[in-house]
Amino acid sequence: MIPAAFEYHRPKDMAGVLAVLVEHGDEARVLAGGHSLIPMMKLRMADVPHLIDLQDVDGLSGITVDGGRIRIGAMTTQSDIIGHAALAEAAPIMREASLQIADPQVRYMGTVGGNVANGDPGNDMPGLMQCLDATFILVGPDGEREVQARDFYEAAYMTDREDDEVLVAVAFDAPSGGYAYEKQKRKIGDYATAAAAVLLVKDGDTCSSASIAMTNLSDTPVWSEAAGDALVGTSVDAAAIDAAVAAMLGDIDPTQDNRGPIEFKRHAAAMILRRAIARAWDRA
Ligand code: FAD
Repeated sequence: MIPAAFEYHRPKDMAGVLAVLVEHGDEARVLAGGHSLIPMMKLRMADVPHLIDLQDVDGLSGITVDGGRIRIGAMTTQSDIIGHAALAEAAPIMREASLQIADPQVRYMGTVGGNVANGDPGNDMPGLMQCLDATFILVGPDGEREVQARDFYEAAYMTDREDDEVLVAVAFDAPSGGYAYEKQKRKIGDYATAAAAVLLVKDGDTCSSASIAMTNLSDTPVWSEAAGDALVGTSVDAAAIDAAVAAMLGDIDPTQDNRGPIEFKRHAAAMILRRAIARAWDRA
């Protein structure tokens, strides 16, 4: 459990980070909270000759809630999210989901940027970001660009981010209506067997808008437009929920692993999604 030798870089600004990334290409990786990358290096599953620590770079941490638009810096920790009163008011699903990630020790170190940039299908934030229709802000040698969370994930650990780009922030509109983040896991501190992020807007007795994403049920997060569409225009009755669950089951593609066989995962996905829809609708 000792990583291979690497050179440790600790630049003071983004220009310094980008200079190392440009010089070393895919031999260099940025380090945020280190709670995914360092274990991978120790297991020799990641070979990183040049490690670039982001902690001295100004402007990468912090949460702003401004006129209904929320921006969260990449180095903001899950613990920061849980403790931020204005964010809890504007987007309570962020706090609800963050409280279900790992345990307090991991949440003190794990960052939003690391969680979404890693591309690990087990991470909770990517699906949540897709549910919120978030924008990812990336900086590279050619300047800044934005990518929608729904377009960012290509395969397990494969994203739209170039090797010489750094994710600096995520941004999204404060959601209205009801919300729920539900997660099935084997034990406290575990990654999801299945997790669901649901946002529902109610107009009278009818659902006027729905966004639904699930985690760890494919090699990327799954935002299912069809599952949301199955609820819109209904009173979110049993038939509509059945249709939404069926649509989501058509979009996920779980594999067998130490969290269970495929049929169990599909069962867990359906159960978690039903719970999340019911709770979001109660709160809408
Ligand atoms: P790092 O480990 O520092 O980096 C991860 C990867 O992202 C690296 O490849 C790195 O180069 C890249 N990266 C980091 N920041 C950026 C950036 N700004 N721009 C571009 N690339 C970047 N997560 C969950 O969601 N749910 C769980 O249930 C869960 N359980 C966990 C249990 C344990 C025991 C542990 C150790 C971790 C768990 N995690 C879980 C992961 C944790 O929450 C962190 O979010 C995760 O480790 C990534 O964040 P980090 O800041 O540690 O990133």
